[in-house]
Amino acid sequence: MSAYAAEPRLVVRGLDVRFDVRRSSGADTRGAEDPRAEAPRAESIGAEAHVVDGLDFELRAGEVLALLGESGSGKSVTARALLGLVDPPGRIVAGSVRFEGRELCGLDEAAWRRVRGREIALVFQDPPATLNPVLTLGEQLCEAPRAHLGLSTNAAAERARALLAELGLDGGEPWLARYPHQLSGGQRQRAALAQALLCEPKLVIADEPTTALDPTLVAVVVELLRRRTRELGTSVLWITHDLRVARMLAQRAIVLYAGRVVEEGPLGELARAPRHPYTQALFAARPGAEKRGRPLSTARGAAGDPTRWPSGCRFHPRCPFADARCAELSPELLPEPSAGLSPGLSPGPSPELGSERAPRRAAEAARESSNARSRSVACHHPLDERAEGAG
Ligand code: SF4
Repeated sequence: MSAYAAEPRLVVRGLDVRFDVRRSSGADTRGAEDPRAEAPRAESIGAEAHVVDGLDFELRAGEVLALLGESGSGKSVTARALLGLVDPPGRIVAGSVRFEGRELCGLDEAAWRRVRGREIALVFQDPPATLNPVLTLGEQLCEAPRAHLGLSTNAAAERARALLAELGLDGGEPWLARYPHQLSGGQRQRAALAQALLCEPKLVIADEPTTALDPTLVAVVVELLRRRTRELGTSVLWITHDLRVARMLAQRAIVLYAGRVVEEGPLGELARAPRHPYTQALFAARPGAEKRGRPLSTARGAAGDPTRWPSGCRFHPRCPFADARCAELSPELLPEPSAGLSPGLSPGPSPELGSERAPRRAAEAARESSNARSRSVACHHPLDERAEGAG
């Protein structure tokens, strides 16, 4: 299928991921957002953690979509689910992940190996999870271009050196001869990013890829990804709780709370006028939003235990607007009145391939279409005029 067919590049529908805590005893945290934050609690043993619940979203060629939310919201588990990396005791219980028209849920391991790295790449927030400590960077970075693209070792090394240089690892240093332990945290993070981008995957899922980088290097990474979206039509799912970095790159954002989408829309609009109380708290808590001399505002409390989400609206124990209905009724995710499209409908088709300008046009189309889909939970509080219809 064409890289720029009418269907968005990635279409996720009703994705539902659970972890069987009875078997994990809290020890297996490979699918967890943050092992310290999401590991099932001791008192939860014997239950099922419902970490991602009915997730829907789309991502077009050349588009950057930010997946926002605090630790424990299900962001990293979503990333792993999209690449078939949810290991037992976790499992995808329901849903569909379509990539360029092809269903990925249910692929066997051999088929996944052809997709991972070549078509979809995942950059982990923790480089040690990606880089093998007993192999040099050259050995690990050159492996995928040789296997997926048929490059010679020299050609693969040349490509790796060029990409590392783009990421600021140049200066005549023999980076490819180094082992991960010989690098700083920021250098390891950039090497892991280079490894993900070497085969020019169509979709990059980047899970907090800039946490170990100083602001100058963050700008380098953002510019590199921006160039990839413009010149190659690369799509990026940017998973982060750092709104400042998200705003540097993403056109659109989805806000996750307790495994569910609570709001979706153009990132600039969400930042300017967040509708859902959780989104409001998230943006109010970002550095820079505070008034000089006053502490940062935060949502009170914590998201809670995924084995025992609160009834009704999952945000109600923390919500300053909650009333009695909020503990009983689970509000629906509805389109914004101005959005013009129903949830699940796509804007018009992306440009077809056919000229070297196609990736650039795809990126422009993705940016233009970013206004087309805005949704938020229909709250029960009186400020939301959709509440009566939804509640
Ligand atoms: S439904 Fe109620 S508890 Fe949930 S966000 Fe809206 S007002 Fe707050």
